[in-house]
Order: sequence, then structure tokens, then C-alpha cells
Amino acid sequence: MRQPTPVNVDEAAKRIRGIQPPVPFLRSNSLSSANHNVYFQCEFLNNVGSFKLRGASNKLLSLTEDERQNGVITYSTGNHGIAVAYVAQKLNSPATICLSKQVPKSKVDRLLALSARLYFVESGQDEAADKAYELTRQENLAIVEPFDDLHIIAGQGTVAREILQKMPDLTQILVPLSGGGLLGGIAMYIKHHKPEVHVVGVSMSASPVMICSINTGKPVSLPESSSLADSLQGGIGIDNRYTFDLIRKYVDELVLVSETDIETAMLSMYSQERMVLEGAAVVGVAAILSGKVKVTSNTVVVLTGNNVDMDRFTRLIYKS
Ligand SMILES: *Cc1c(COP(=O)(O)O)cnc(C)c1O
Repeated sequence: MRQPTPVNVDEAAKRIRGIQPPVPFLRSNSLSSANHNVYFQCEFLNNVGSFKLRGASNKLLSLTEDERQNGVITYSTGNHGIAVAYVAQKLNSPATICLSKQVPKSKVDRLLALSARLYFVESGQDEAADKAYELTRQENLAIVEPFDDLHIIAGQGTVAREILQKMPDLTQILVPLSGGGLLGGIAMYIKHHKPEVHVVGVSMSASPVMICSINTGKPVSLPESSSLADSLQGGIGIDNRYTFDLIRKYVDELVLVSETDIETAMLSMYSQERMVLEGAAVVGVAAILSGKVKVTSNTVVVLTGNNVDMDRFTRLIYKS
């Protein structure tokens, strides 16, 4: 299997320019100190509220016009589905999304507003994936994998390209990790251009499938458990093609944060930085605030999404 390359990322950046403009890059007041700068790459500030727009637009723009006309399909904990539905609508391609009933209502509402066809399954990501493959065969649809696909990884890798342009002397980068499309693309691109940068992946301790797989030496599956970081749920696929190898090869450090760490980070981002972010987006901040990762001179934290259920978010704020 040919692995994605930095050239694929450069091509993706050109392809998606019209759909995904560069996002804001800000110095954090609450996490920086006199000698150490922490910067936020604000991937939640686009039309879908997450970086998933990068991979989805790179993938859909790489399909043939015929494939797009037939329609696209995906399975997703939410943000990838929203991104696929959004790009499909822009390109006049019918979109089908398979998702589990655990996906929060805010995300479901967004999908419906993008006029996607939705299929709900009972158990979780794995069942949603099976359903998507079944429909792919029945209806001859183009499947848009959430992470384990060359175009998706190259698309997510454009985050690193953008950061290197804005901050050529970064020393460390913290990236949320689930299936590893984002971290895989970023780590591969950064290690080719600036190998001395310390690349850190962060997962939640509730079912960290990629980290367990790396520790075991091969892809494993774990039962899903509930987490504030709902966008990080789901497996990596027992026959993982790309992301497992990318993470193993290019990532320097893998870190786990607890539910309490995530909650503290969400509250801190709200009260200190005035940002409303979902749990998955703040795991890098959680790793710093809990002391699990030390800040170095120019540390970049990728803030991945803001699709948090507002009832859940306000309850969290009131409780604190
Ligand atoms: C999908 C997602 C991630 C994880 O990305 P992977 O490529 O699956 O590792 C992190 N944060 C948010 C908000 C996401 O939607």
C-alpha cells in the first residue's frame, strides 16, 4: 500500500483552497508564559466547525464527476459526516451518512439541515461502517472513509502545511488522536520538513484504540465507552491500511488524558480564552493543564472542533 506523501499534502492544499481558507492562528494568553509561547490553530473556525472539511473536500474533489453524481456515503461520529454532507451539497452530489444513535442531537440536526440521507444503527461506529459498506455495494456509491484513506490523510495534513507557513520555528505540536487521519497527516508532513519538531498525539483514556494498538504492535479493537470527547470514539479498523503505520513511524509521544482533565480544559478554554469547544478539541490543552506535556518555546495546539451539544456544554458551565 503506497503511503501518503508530503507531495499529496501540497496537492491537497491547492485542491481545497476554494472550500477551506486558512484558519486563525492565535497566541494563547492563558497557556503562554514569558519564555514559552503556546499557539492555537483554530480548526473549529470554518463553515462546518471542524478540520474534517479538509479531508472531505480533498476526497470529494478527487472523485470523478460520474462518481459524485452517483452519490457518496460515509459513516461517522458526526464531524466527518457533517463535512462530507457540506461538501457534497456544494458539489451537487447526493450524500448518505450512517451513524450510531449515540451521536449528539446537535450533530444530527446539522446533518439534516445539509439535506443528507441518514441511516441510524444501534451499537456504534463499527456497525455504522458495516451498514455503509452494505449500501455502497447495493447502490454503487463512493465511500468516503473517515480517516484511513490517502486523500483524507493528505487533506488533514494541510493543517501542518498551514502551521509551518505561519510558525516556521515551532518546537512542539499537540494533536487530538482517534482514527489518526489528522495526526498521521500532520506528523508525516512535519517530519519531512522539520524533523526536530516534537509531535504529540493525545487521546482520552476511555477506549484509546490507536494507543492500545501501537502498544500491542498491531491494530486492536476495544469496546466503546462514553466520553466528553465523543468525536474521538470509534476504532481504527482491524485491517487498518495507513494511519497505524503513520502514527507508529512519525509520532514522538502518545499521551492519555482523563475525563476530568478534559472537563477542566473545556472550562478553562471557555473562561480564559472565551472559546466554546467540544471535548475532543481540547485534549491537547488538557495534556498541558494536567502537566502531562511540558510546554516548550513554540508549542502549537490544534483545536479541532466546536460541535458540542449546547445543553451539555451549559450544564458543564453551571456545574462548575
Ligand atoms: C475526527 C476528530 C478528531 C480525530 O481525528 P482522527 O483523524 O480520527 O484522529 C479530533 N477532534 C475532532 C473534533 C474530530 O472531529
